[in-house]
Amino acid sequence: MTILLKGLEVANTMTHTIQKEVDGFKEQGIYPKLAIVRVGESPSDLSYEKGALKRMEKCGIKTEVHVLSQEADQSEVIKIIKSANEDASVHGILMFRPLPKHMDETMIQEQISPEKDVDGMSMINFGKVMAGEVDGFPPATPAAVMAILKHYQIEIKGKHCVIVGRSTVVGKPVAMMLLKENGTVTISHSKTENLKEVCRRADILVVAIGRGRMITKDYVKNGAVVIDVGINIDENNQLCGDVNEGDCMDIASALTPVPGGVGSVTTSILAAHVLKGCKTQWLKNHKE
Ligand code: NAD
Repeated sequence: MTILLKGLEVANTMTHTIQKEVDGFKEQGIYPKLAIVRVGESPSDLSYEKGALKRMEKCGIKTEVHVLSQEADQSEVIKIIKSANEDASVHGILMFRPLPKHMDETMIQEQISPEKDVDGMSMINFGKVMAGEVDGFPPATPAAVMAILKHYQIEIKGKHCVIVGRSTVVGKPVAMMLLKENGTVTISHSKTENLKEVCRRADILVVAIGRGRMITKDYVKNGAVVIDVGINIDENNQLCGDVNEGDCMDIASALTPVPGGVGSVTTSILAAHVLKGCKTQWLKNHKE
């Protein structure tokens, strides 16, 4: 029997904890706030923004949304980021990527103050994840993977964790986060030889490829925990993961569904990060 690791359960538990902490802050006159920066009207950005706004509202976190047109000059994006950096009432900044091609995304994301960079975009926060430091912000998706494993009490220590995918936003950070929890980590990718064999060694298999239903039961060891990060649209316009869920049923001991798995936890991670930013910034301001 394969247990479905449902993201909503994790998200709701996290929301409950965050709500209580936010209430405590509000009693002291502190109102955690997230600033969202969006360029253009891409459906995936709009959908994520809707989810993020709903989750922040549930958590009691204030929001402000800055929207620029697809044709905007990058100086306008930088101006908004700088103003949010300086605004003491803003504790977290979320900027949607990719930015339009005429903008220098790497340079722009580095403008976000690392202490407000709640989606872990800056090199400083990436470096902190690589160094195993916990005072930064990892990107929301790998943090969601870790939150699911923690919520369902899946032991990582000593387990062989195989990651498929080596991107900066998912594969690499999740590998480092599993290593920090004492997993034995293998990172595999598009050039890995004998991928099926490598994956079949995993006690915990984390898949972040971007290829709909590629991972079949041939890649999964009996009893492995499978975390599917992929979000794809199949030929019938249906959302699907990188894992062929039906095929892996009864082989994996546990599996995250798509939709309803990793993706449903990311906005709660953002809320937790805004709160963490709020605490850090408050402590800093009260020391000075
Ligand atoms: P990416 O394109 O940056 O990286 C994909 C990785 O997969 C690469 O490292 C590549 O080496 C590897 N890969 C590609 N083809 C492969 C193959 N045939 N065999 C083995 N490895 C292969 O993608 P990403 O940004 O890391 O995203 C991965 C997936 O996760 C996508 O489906 C994306 O939509 C999804 N995603 C989901 C969330 C979420 O919140 N759930 C967030 C970010 C990304």
